[in-house]
Amino acid sequence: MIQHRASQGLGSAVPVRVSVDRTLRVKVIDACGMTCTFCHNEGTPVSADNPAPAAGSAPFGGAFNPAGPSGRVSIYLARNGARFAAAPMHPDEGFRAALEQLQEALGFTEVHLTGGEPTLHPKLAQLVALAGNSGYRVSVTSNGENGARILPGCVRAGLQRVNFSIFGTDSGELAEVQNEKFRRASLAVAKIEALDESIRVALDLGLSTRANVVLPDGSHVRRVHRLLERYSPCLSVRVLSSLSDGEESLDAIDTLLAELGATPHEVHLIAGTSGFRISYRLPNGGVLVVKHIRPLRLPETCAGCRFNNETDCHEGYYGVRLYRDRAGTFHVGVCIQRMDLCLPMEEFVRSGLCEGIRALRDQEFHDLRA
Ligand code: SF4
Repeated sequence: MIQHRASQGLGSAVPVRVSVDRTLRVKVIDACGMTCTFCHNEGTPVSADNPAPAAGSAPFGGAFNPAGPSGRVSIYLARNGARFAAAPMHPDEGFRAALEQLQEALGFTEVHLTGGEPTLHPKLAQLVALAGNSGYRVSVTSNGENGARILPGCVRAGLQRVNFSIFGTDSGELAEVQNEKFRRASLAVAKIEALDESIRVALDLGLSTRANVVLPDGSHVRRVHRLLERYSPCLSVRVLSSLSDGEESLDAIDTLLAELGATPHEVHLIAGTSGFRISYRLPNGGVLVVKHIRPLRLPETCAGCRFNNETDCHEGYYGVRLYRDRAGTFHVGVCIQRMDLCLPMEEFVRSGLCEGIRALRDQEFHDLRA
């Protein structure tokens, strides 16, 4: 079990902090300028490869195209029962109402903007401002390809944090995880330069800035050492276990921590989400955060799920995601491997699923503190 593995060797002296998940994830755009081979695309099909169907025809001929000319992927699409393609969020009354309904139903205080690549949304700053005015703290995850241009406006609009997803320190490493058609060093060089410029701009703006680095298996440990050497002096780096690589990823994290001489310093458990963090102190006085997944389930919803076992369920119950489809309907999802569980907003807030999430959070907060 991932929970068990991640806790091994920590010892009872490591303090444990418990909080409650109050974060809503919002897919603001599907477009992305990269073609990473491991992308889950928040569970929805790649919109560019699935254009809107002609009037009167069955949506997408009844099935989504999993591998179109864009070269992008949505790794769970073949089995997750997705029924809609995601359209961009608009900074309008509909978005405001959706945020406020979910805030009221589930007590969210933070909104995390995802994609695709959120910084390609031409109205990202307006989305940030609208979410802020609705009472949310706003953060964004980005691959860095367009941050230098768009982050200043987002910060003025109230953006509080950016998490950069970083894969490689050089063009070869980045190109290796791109679709074959786009595996060109020149393209990867341009993306890395754009990322570095985005990081510089974010830091100059005084924006809380993190780097997320996924460690899939032992063959990537040296790469993560290089990323840490390059980025950890200037920003907070978090190493993430890979959802689809399970034990191999956890073994690689153990190797990395041993090689760094890292010592555990705090465990942060979050009631109501499978994600949790362990902070480590490094010999040079720095801090490294490792983000893990524990096998949390929604008691009723997950009970009958075909993936409900230790190997097939990759993310566990991670939290609530908000999507908008091409017809302008807002959908609420609870699992990127089971997009068939998505419900239209109005239905969701009245559903037993919403009630089950509230109950799970309360029960977990009680149990984890105990
Ligand atoms: S979190 Fe629940 S619904 Fe999603 S794959 Fe796991 S068991 Fe299934």
